[in-house]
This record gives sequence, structure tokens and C-alpha cells, in this order.
Amino acid sequence: MTIKENILEILDDIKKYSPNPEKVKLVAVTKYVDSDTIKEVLKTGVNILGENKVQVIEEKRKELPENEYDIKWHFIGNLQKNKVKYIASYIDMVHSINKLSLAEEIDKRAKSHNRKIDVLLEINISEEESKEGYILKELLEDIPKLLKLENINICGLMTMAPFEEDEEKIRTIFRNLRLLKEKWNKEYFNGQLKELSMGMSQDYKIALEEGATLIRVGSKIYK
Ligand SMILES: *Cc1c(COP(=O)(O)O)cnc(C)c1O
Repeated sequence: MTIKENILEILDDIKKYSPNPEKVKLVAVTKYVDSDTIKEVLKTGVNILGENKVQVIEEKRKELPENEYDIKWHFIGNLQKNKVKYIASYIDMVHSINKLSLAEEIDKRAKSHNRKIDVLLEINISEEESKEGYILKELLEDIPKLLKLENINICGLMTMAPFEEDEEKIRTIFRNLRLLKEKWNKEYFNGQLKELSMGMSQDYKIALEEGATLIRVGSKIYK
């Protein structure tokens, strides 16, 4: 299938599986492909691109200049603190806040550019193999300090389900992230958590059924 056909299928799935399709956005993960392929993606009208390496975004940005392409770059991987300064002037959203010191660095760099950066708290809900994301207990301790950072806008939660588990287990993980968002909106965030970034090529349909608002889909687009 072509890139366009694949993307149309995913956009169609959003309507089919999400209870609130108008709130859902596709983050086209482009970490596997070059700028020419990205242009094919952009032609379909999808312009939120997910990348997980600072240097790669920097290179692709040179090949896809801002005055020609309207791209919203989303950072979806493990972000090293010493790299934040390179992306702070333009990054549209960071999905992967996994420690206080990273949030503080983004806050500081955003401030120096006179902007506020949208971020998501990445949570290791299953507390299993994958070491990505905050452990819940640590995050709970950090919330008061995170809330004081004025140049980041904590606008939701993100998680990654473990790969190739059974469907019900994945569904439970996504559901728990949604329930956590609802609970925390009452307890700490005063309704400011709007986004749920969950679901990839393997499991985005389940994520949509459980209320995802940002699905991060890569490999399925290029098949
Ligand atoms: C690569 C990646 C994706 C996309 O995964 P696919 O299985 O290719 O759809 C989504 N989220 C994160 C954090 C990733 O690193």
C-alpha cells in the first residue's frame, strides 16, 4: 500500500474506534524514514511528526525548511537534558517527561525563548521490563514541583504498552492511564490534563477505544 492509503486507513480507524474522534490526532512517527518520504506524509495533510533523536530532527528540519513546510515536531523518545537546548525554540510537544530534572531543563530553556512548551508525563504504568517513563510513586512525589514550573504546560499523560502482550493486558494499561488522568485532573491538575498519548502500529485501535487523543504510529505508514 502507498503512504497515502495507509494514512487514510489510520484516519478512518480513528473515526471507527475512538469514542471522541474529533479530539484525536495522528502523530506520524518518522524516525525510520528520510525527508523525501516525509514529504509524502505531509502531502496527505498530516503534519504532526514524531521523532526520538534530537540530531535527526535537526537534520530533517534543514531539509524541510519552516518557510516551506508547516510541521509540528513532537519529541517521543528518551530526551537527554543536554540536548534540550537545541530543540527548545521550536519543539511543539515533548511526550516523554520521565524525571523532574528533565522537566526543569525544558522549563528553563523554554523561558529563555520566551515560550511555554507543551509536555506529557510519560508513565511506566505496567512497571515491567521497559524502563521508559516515570514510576508512579516517584511521579507522585514530584507533582507539586512539576506544577510550579511556569514555562511548561503539562497537558497530558503518555505510556507505552509492552510489546506483544495479550490484548486484554494492553487494554488494561491504556484504561489505567485514562483513569489516572481523570483522577489527577480532580486531585492535582484542575482539568488541565487533556491529552492521552498511547497506541502505536500494533495497538492503536485498542488505545483509541480506551480514549487516546494522540496515537503515535510509525511502521504501519510505510508498509
Ligand atoms: C517508534 C515509536 C513509535 C512508533 O512505533 P511503530 O510501532 O513503528 O508504530 C511510537 N512511540 C514511540 C515512543 C516510539 O519510539
